[in-house]
Amino acid sequence: MRMPEPDGDVLARREAIVAGLRRILLDDGVIADDEGLKPYESDGLTAYRQVPIAVALPRSTREVAEILRYCHDEGVKVVPRGGGTSLSGGALPLADGIVLGLGRLNRVLSIDLANRCAVVQPGVTNLAISQAVAHAGFYYAPDPSSQIACTIGGNVAENAGGLHCLKYGLTTHNVLGIELVTIAGDVIRLGGRHLDAEGYDILAVMTGSEGLLGVVTEVTVRLLRKPATARAVLLGFAGNPAAGACVAKIIAAGIIPAGMEMMDRDAIHAAEEFCHAGYPLDVEAILIVEVDGFPSEVDALVDRVQAIAKGVGATHLRVSHSEAERTALWAGRKNALPAVGRLAPDYYVMDGTIPRRRLPEVLSRIAELSQRYALRVANVFHAGDGNLHPLILYDAAIPGELERAEELGSAILTACVEVGGVLTGEHGVGVEKRDLMGTMFNERDLAHQMRLKCAFDPDARLNPGKMFPTLHRCAELGRLHVHAGQLRFPDLPRF
Ligand SMILES: Cc1cc2nc3c(=O)[nH]c(=O)nc-3n(C[C@H](O)[C@H](O)[C@H](O)COP(=O)(O)OP(=O)(O)OC[C@H]3O[C@@H](n4cnc5c(N)ncnc54)[C@H](O)[C@@H]3O)c2cc1C
Repeated sequence: MRMPEPDGDVLARREAIVAGLRRILLDDGVIADDEGLKPYESDGLTAYRQVPIAVALPRSTREVAEILRYCHDEGVKVVPRGGGTSLSGGALPLADGIVLGLGRLNRVLSIDLANRCAVVQPGVTNLAISQAVAHAGFYYAPDPSSQIACTIGGNVAENAGGLHCLKYGLTTHNVLGIELVTIAGDVIRLGGRHLDAEGYDILAVMTGSEGLLGVVTEVTVRLLRKPATARAVLLGFAGNPAAGACVAKIIAAGIIPAGMEMMDRDAIHAAEEFCHAGYPLDVEAILIVEVDGFPSEVDALVDRVQAIAKGVGATHLRVSHSEAERTALWAGRKNALPAVGRLAPDYYVMDGTIPRRRLPEVLSRIAELSQRYALRVANVFHAGDGNLHPLILYDAAIPGELERAEELGSAILTACVEVGGVLTGEHGVGVEKRDLMGTMFNERDLAHQMRLKCAFDPDARLNPGKMFPTLHRCAELGRLHVHAGQLRFPDLPRF
């Protein structure tokens, strides 16, 4: 994975840049010593590391705006960072840039239960939002497995998903408004406490923009009332095709579970050893299906799910009868990544999404690829969404093994695209899938996406080298030119 060549002029001005940041944030808001920078050299994609010039830790929107304006004027690149849990290298620093850490903006600003929303700063962790409103029986629905550490700002930037997004939607469906600072230091507001806003839906554009278009400094999230009850059903199958068929039949029956997760044999064994969730060890795949709502509705849905599972040959069936049992059934799945992490010194998490009905076929393909590249792969996935998380196990200390893991990852994601899927379900493109964007988009598609980047960040200061496989100059993409009072894209046919 190659990153843009560092700008020698910026590197030569390192000390002046640090001094400039310190004029804005004072000493304790700027980290520039080797030891202090170490924790920021990578994010959740630990295979890639890079020490930045400095880390800036603002405490307010005003400070964020001042830093961005300063970097804009001085030609310094900026990588925004929340909890640093990105699995696609989105928060990977740049040698000639600074990291803008949003962790100190971590206050819940207001809770408005009448309007079912809360306004929070970007550094508030995902879980802390639900904890802040739990006393009133509310919660924030998107629940990435990293929710204890990842921030809402990072969730917006990655359009994060989670176990319960099948029924309740991704981040984009649960954010009503944001405050955003542009690279030029302008503070803008998008959306609000209402459902719809006039004008272009720029809020939707910002959700999933991976820190390339602006820095999120405030988020208004939608709150949901906690369901009266929820029950989980654990199902075991002798093979992946039966588990895949069960997923398809449940959805086809019109049931929208609150969550529907699948794990394969390796993942089941790793999770069971790690946290003793009570998963059967004599099956090839398990499904955890959760339904929620009023008790009578939930009981009826549990019966229907069980009937469907029996119909496709489930060999193991267990239903939770208490909140403690339900939590225990989820514990293995929620801890699957750290559990699988114990099987090898390193692991690499993929994030492809496929049409649900292609699940068995894609799993067979992954098994073939795993053999061909001689690397073990454990699979966990949001089965209801068709979002796969193959976990490639490798040892970075063995020469060539990281490169082999990367090649296997590319082959898996390409296979997802070939069956009509997409490169990422929730982890974003970052640097990890950047060079695969050409498998999904042609040059023209990409040029139009890059034009959007140019509209917000024409000098490519915000998180460059991520998401787009080529570096570009906005002028070459056809920047807006004013000719005789007319706006036109010089290199595009006119309407
Ligand atoms: C164990 C584990 C489990 C995970 N499970 C899930 C899961 O179930 N679902 C899921 O979707 N993801 C999951 N992830 C991935 C990750 O947690 C999410 O992508 C999360 O949204 C990242 O949030 P963060 O605060 O850590 O952001 P960071 O990693 O700090 O940054 C991620 C991206 O967002 C940008 N960014 C961060 N903050 C801002 C801001 N305020 N304004 C603008 N841009 C910003 C960064 O530049 C970067 O591009 C998991 C990660 C781990 C390690």
